[in-house]
Amino acid sequence: MKYISTRKNNENISFKEAVINGLSNNGGLYFPEKIPLLPLSFFEDIEKLENDEIAFQVLQPFVKGSLTDQQLKNVIADAINFPTPIIPVQGNIFSLELYHGPTQAFKDVGARFMSRCLSYFHQDKNENIIILVATSGDTGSAVANGFFNVSGVSVKILFPKGKISPYQEYQMTSLGKNIKAIEVDGTFDDCQKLVKEAFQDKSLRKKISLSSANSINVARLLPQMLYYFFAYKQLKTKFNGKKIVVSVPSGNLGNITAGLLAKKMGLPIERFIAAHNVNDTFNQYLKTGKFEQKPSILTYSNAMDVGNPSNFERIEHLYNQTLDELRIDVSADTFSNAATLKEIKECYANNGYLLDPHGAIGKLALSKSLKEDEIGVFLETAHPQKFSEIIVKTIPDYKSKNVNLKECKKTNIKNQYTDLRKILTT
Ligand SMILES: *Cc1c(COP(=O)(O)O)cnc(C)c1O
Repeated sequence: MKYISTRKNNENISFKEAVINGLSNNGGLYFPEKIPLLPLSFFEDIEKLENDEIAFQVLQPFVKGSLTDQQLKNVIADAINFPTPIIPVQGNIFSLELYHGPTQAFKDVGARFMSRCLSYFHQDKNENIIILVATSGDTGSAVANGFFNVSGVSVKILFPKGKISPYQEYQMTSLGKNIKAIEVDGTFDDCQKLVKEAFQDKSLRKKISLSSANSINVARLLPQMLYYFFAYKQLKTKFNGKKIVVSVPSGNLGNITAGLLAKKMGLPIERFIAAHNVNDTFNQYLKTGKFEQKPSILTYSNAMDVGNPSNFERIEHLYNQTLDELRIDVSADTFSNAATLKEIKECYANNGYLLDPHGAIGKLALSKSLKEDEIGVFLETAHPQKFSEIIVKTIPDYKSKNVNLKECKKTNIKNQYTDLRKILTT
């Protein structure tokens, strides 16, 4: 498989190169040149396949030429080693729990997959590689965990000061060794912009070997398709033939892009819903046809506080810049902090199911849009425990997890590129 840039230039590179470069040199995002269609027989027999076998068949065309079949099998076995169960919540609504990995958010899937790929790609190189990543909370901890103690790799994580939960901060600042957490006086969008600046800094890239682990990296994006297939497998045995609707709590739009890719490969999902908090640039785009980035606003679902979602470019590319076609497959909705809290409380009281603030928005959007003859799935993108200070606002007797940030290490920088550059070059 060859990879091209969403901002078309003549680049035409391998999976390996796309993973190592992170971002195309014209600022575009890498995207597979074509999306292979899986044979009908694959879906007819999917319930007979082990998850590892499904993962292999889905991903093999995308990594061919860069990883051998055996290497891909090893990466899958090692990275995708936790369950993603479908849990009935209420009526025809199900939760797809993606938080059973080591840092308790779906970001573990992509981060673990990518770290294993990179260790193969860097096996025969002596130079140190720097993984630079911006996080709205969960990416940082998943990447830190995925790369911790991996030799030849050092990780620099940029996170927005005061805008992530204490538990999230603890997860990325407590490791040390090859993991460095950098607190930026700014928002997630600022962090993301600094990362992009570093990637476009030609003289810096001559000095150091830089790679990205954001959801902009194809090695993060592609494995996120897998749990949509795993979910389908679980639902198919119960509801064969019914229409499946998936609601994705969305920020940078990586997760929903992976879902749309899975659909393009033939996965029978009827439609998707992008569930947003007030940072709803994408919802506004679907309504008006205008993509107007906004400064991000801090909410209870902080991992979705993204005003300029990167993966929008990939979605546009996937749909050939045709809004009408996109609207057939995807709708969107927006919910406030107050609605989020109310949903957490009510879902717990009525169904005994504890939602995290992101999943709560996913479920709200799903409930509002789901028709009687459809089966609805919302993605539970993180464990509620990661956001206990939000949960206790509405379920006062919820036991929060104590973390001690005193022993943790971080570096603070201003929202300016020269500060970041200094850290990267010293
Ligand atoms: C990252 C994240 C999201 C948003 O996912 P995107 O791929 O950025 O749209 C939603 N929920 C949680 C818990 C996250 O960590």
